[in-house]
Amino acid sequence: MPNPSLIIHGGAWSVPEGDVQAALAGCRRAAQTGWAILQHGGSALDAVEAAVHVLEDDPVFDAGIGSHLNLDGEVEMDAIIMDGATLRNGAVAAIQRVRHPVSVARLVMERTPHSLLVGAGAEAFARSQGVAVFSEEELIVPRERDTLRGIRAQKGLAQDTVGAAARDANGHLAAATSTGGTMGKLPGRVGDSPLIGSGAYADDLAGAASATGDGESLMKIVISKAACDLMAAGQTAQAAAEAIIQRLAQRTTGAGGLIVVDARGRVGHAFNTPRMACAWVAADGSIESSI
Ligand code: ASP
Repeated sequence: MPNPSLIIHGGAWSVPEGDVQAALAGCRRAAQTGWAILQHGGSALDAVEAAVHVLEDDPVFDAGIGSHLNLDGEVEMDAIIMDGATLRNGAVAAIQRVRHPVSVARLVMERTPHSLLVGAGAEAFARSQGVAVFSEEELIVPRERDTLRGIRAQKGLAQDTVGAAARDANGHLAAATSTGGTMGKLPGRVGDSPLIGSGAYADDLAGAASATGDGESLMKIVISKAACDLMAAGQTAQAAAEAIIQRLAQRTTGAGGLIVVDARGRVGHAFNTPRMACAWVAADGSIESSI
């Protein structure tokens, strides 16, 4: 029986010194949650969704509560989930007022014939499925209001999208990504995160990946699918992650990071931003983390 494996990220950017411990702790908590599911025979899909939930609930990260604000001061979130066994995928973009965009993405995958719902349509769909809808205020943390003031004053700041990639005991892979997008983005802007192949990809025959970083650059190289293609061609998870981040640097002006699991369950990560918060499960079952 294959050994399960799991890797989590909490975003690739600068991560201010004061947030380092909280970002590491959040990633470790998410990894523990996903790992408990995998250890009890749960699916990779359930594990990545549950891990991303933990990060969406943690205001340290730019996903769910704590999402960055667009230039109008509103939260517009993007998320994707993909099942490597069937290649089914679901995503939402520019969705507002839900706490767990990743779960709405999963509902899109499982309960509609579609792959991606956006904006008001995505929110209406979430409501129709019994998903709780919150006021805009409940998703906004004071830090983000200050950050938006900084953006308006032209100060560069950090962003912390979240994601997970896993293999379960049946050898099935899954990946998920969730984000509030980039700080001070134009209303209506959608980045790489909800786009299949860019924000995430999973194929049991290749690997699973979740990306973070400058979305407009990541989508140019369809980063997650590109990493899966390298793993399908025989590269290890770590080699594929490093090669793709090198490609990102060579072919675009943006920076980013990637977590991957290959079909044999090996995990890897690489980034060319100052930091990327990350946690994974080591061969002995212990949770490791780095930033
Ligand atoms: N990739 C995300 C986006 O462009 C942002 C991030 O990863 O921090 O929306």
